[in-house]
Amino acid sequence: MSDSPTSHRPRILTGDTPTGRLHLGHYVGSLENRIELQDKYDCYFLLANMHAFTTRADAPQDIRTDTIEIVKDWLAVGIDPDRSTIVLQTEVPAIAELTWYFAMLLPFNRVMRNPTLKTEIEAKDLGDTYSFGFPMYAVGQCADILAFRPELVPVGVDQVAHIEMCREAARRFDQFYCNVNPKTEDDDYASAGGLFPVPKALVGRIGRLVGTDGDNKMSKSLNNAIFLSDTAKQVKKKIGAMYPGQSRNPDDPGNVEINPVFGYADAFIKDAAAVDELKDRYRRGDNLGDGHVKAAVIEAVNELLEPMRQRRAALEGKDGDERVIEVIRTGTAKANLVAEETLHLAKQAMGLDFGARNLAWR
Ligand code: ATP
Ligand code: MG
Repeated sequence: MSDSPTSHRPRILTGDTPTGRLHLGHYVGSLENRIELQDKYDCYFLLANMHAFTTRADAPQDIRTDTIEIVKDWLAVGIDPDRSTIVLQTEVPAIAELTWYFAMLLPFNRVMRNPTLKTEIEAKDLGDTYSFGFPMYAVGQCADILAFRPELVPVGVDQVAHIEMCREAARRFDQFYCNVNPKTEDDDYASAGGLFPVPKALVGRIGRLVGTDGDNKMSKSLNNAIFLSDTAKQVKKKIGAMYPGQSRNPDDPGNVEINPVFGYADAFIKDAAAVDELKDRYRRGDNLGDGHVKAAVIEAVNELLEPMRQRRAALEGKDGDERVIEVIRTGTAKANLVAEETLHLAKQAMGLDFGARNLAWR
């Protein structure tokens, strides 16, 4: 690890919930930015395994497997554990403790009105039987982030509402406990004496990639995802089966706007001029069928995924699992130093500094 916990490089915190493997939506929404910013920032990438229990408390073994698989996806995609810190949420007790304090700073109805929670309840068919912990995860996410006092949070568009709540929690804490004037500009909270910076969401190149159903957000839980670990054959099959929308309606030939395959062409074919040409010919009905567009997209996606497949293959099996667990342990030990420092400073600000606590974990 190149950075000490007190490093002055600005920090990034983001992460994924181990509810399945990572897909192309994660890549364009957040992973790409993470990889790019590894050198400029002190990066912390969190495995939100505690939050996976909010919807899958009955499946601890699946959560464990998904946790390990997500780290394999991260390493395959180019997250480098020598430059970035991989953090396991359940072994950073400061996060759970901070969650309580932030829960007192956010009105109950404010949390329950969070549009991302509402969408998730619908999309995942949670009805009105979801656990008490489910909406609590949105508060927990404020603690995940603020435990690391980061400047930036690289996320997809669906997370922006959560980051907004986190920004509110940071402002309120700084106003209540660090005497920061409520009129202070967001960028100035830290220099005005606040413990927490007001962090910014950094939305990826494509904030919301549509799934292969052409309708919903690509999601691990909706059976509409192309996974980073899919084989070339699986990619071909999934894209090959995509429905091109109404684009072949004789009254509206070649409507590229409503054909989701063109969304993927924009996202994954590097040569923008080639995409424009495809669109142009498709619009004009110039002897260019859906099969042709799909073949071009399949090739581009497979070109992106091939090096990831190769790096992932090196992590297969028991040795791969052991390597992942070592990466988790090393990263989490470092993360605890930062999170414990934050908690200590937060409690000091709140008049709760009755003694020092040391915590080591391997
Ligand atoms: P789940 O269905 O369990 O909620 P998910 O696929 O939505 O899974 P998350 O772990 O909730 O994945 O999201 C991890 C990160 O990836 C977040 O920053 C999120 O905004 C981003 N992300 C997820 N899906 C997409 C997508 N289809 N397009 C762009 N970004 C996405
Ligand atoms: Mg999600």
